[in-house]
Amino acid sequence: MAADDEPLYAARPKIYPQKVSGTFRRIKWAVLLVTLGIYYLLPFVRWDRGEGAPSQAVLVDFPGRRFYFFFIEIWPQEVYYLTGLLIIAAMALFLMNAVAGRVWCGYLCPQTVWTDLFFAVERFFEGDRRARMQRDDAPWTTDKLLRKAGKHAVWLLIAWWTGGAWVLYFADAPTLVKDLATFQAPFIAYASIGVLTFTTYTLAGHMREQVCVYMCPWPRIQAALTDEYALNVTYRRDRGEPRASVKKSAVLRDKGLPAGDCVDCNQCVAVCPTGVDIRDGASLGCIQCGLCIDACDTVMAKIGRPERLIAYDTEVNIRRRAEGLAPILQLIRVRTLLYVGIIAIAGGIMLYTLVNRATLGISVLHDRNPIFVQMADGSVRNGYTVRILNKQPQAQEMTLALEGLPGAALEIVGITSAEAQRHVVEVGRDQTRELRVLVTLKDRPPASTNDIAFVVTASGGGETARTADHFRGP
Ligand code: SF4
Ligand code: SF4
Repeated sequence: MAADDEPLYAARPKIYPQKVSGTFRRIKWAVLLVTLGIYYLLPFVRWDRGEGAPSQAVLVDFPGRRFYFFFIEIWPQEVYYLTGLLIIAAMALFLMNAVAGRVWCGYLCPQTVWTDLFFAVERFFEGDRRARMQRDDAPWTTDKLLRKAGKHAVWLLIAWWTGGAWVLYFADAPTLVKDLATFQAPFIAYASIGVLTFTTYTLAGHMREQVCVYMCPWPRIQAALTDEYALNVTYRRDRGEPRASVKKSAVLRDKGLPAGDCVDCNQCVAVCPTGVDIRDGASLGCIQCGLCIDACDTVMAKIGRPERLIAYDTEVNIRRRAEGLAPILQLIRVRTLLYVGIIAIAGGIMLYTLVNRATLGISVLHDRNPIFVQMADGSVRNGYTVRILNKQPQAQEMTLALEGLPGAALEIVGITSAEAQRHVVEVGRDQTRELRVLVTLKDRPPASTNDIAFVVTASGGGETARTADHFRGP
């Protein structure tokens, strides 16, 4: 076929990863258990916040406009905490990359974790690599049909459970489970579960490595961020080449000819979940999961050669070994210090603001039309909408006061109690109370603009909050 006639599209070869055991496989199982355990069970963890408050440890409460995370309660106006969390998450990802390349991709990424789980289910129903390949090539039989049906049923069950767990973060989990089971949950809950069931089943069951190779932007960004000191899964070319079978290498070595440790058994490729041959060097498809290390170590142990022909290694060490120098591991570098520094600063600021956060707030909106009213007796009146925020876990009495305009009278409209005369109002726990407030200046004509401040003080001379505004005159 002439070069011009070559197709532009290459069909995806189906990948049948082989079962493997070893250190990195065990680490991956442990990470899978911990991460999925947290994801599925966290909505059921309770946290006592007192009467009337949600008792779910982690809850995104849209109707109440709050985010609860154990002892932390974030209000909508504190969304900057989310910015802080995103900065910390990005820096943690960069730090992982600077230390050990795509360690996120290989161990922690949800796509990797769920795909790993789906592979385990596939293996349970259809056997290991060879059996799966043979079955896929064989004609349809009842056994094949039942095995495939069982696999897809369990995949769908896991996908459905994944979607179900997600919605539990948005409402009281035990109540929502009951409502879902009795078809009394809101439509959006069923719709969200449906969408997440579909995406989990498709991405982890069918698209698998294609998500990492073609869809995810991180490998491209990661490639631009990495450096020669980062640990990456690497084939020790200096040790492995020239590759030759066990028999052939024995003959070559007997003759005093060079023969590497790689026996070209292809086990490292067979176990790879993305179908990569690590011996070809770094590639976008390699998610750095370390399973080829386990496979090669098993082979090396069998043939009595030293382990770690494939190992976590750095570009620097590859060079150093070629020059006959001892390998080094340099974790403390400018970039790692920079990432740790940013994480520490962002984390420190968040912690400080959380510990010292105000539990009382006030905001004021001046009437726009009219800006002021001239009364028959010559006095001038301005109207305001005042919002008082009580983030305490109990109701509080608050005193509203005006500063900066001596002689001005403050009136809270619509409240006639004795407390209101003293400008004392009660604000419920975790609530905002909106007040209509009039300020009137009688004895003297005001300037066209006067700087004033509204001050709210919690009962018993507690916490105080203030906000600046203006009193407008003719
Ligand atoms: S598993 Fe090891 S010995 Fe076998 S082909 Fe891969 S690198 Fe070579
Ligand atoms: S080449 Fe090795 S480290 Fe890379 S994805 Fe495949 S098995 Fe994982």
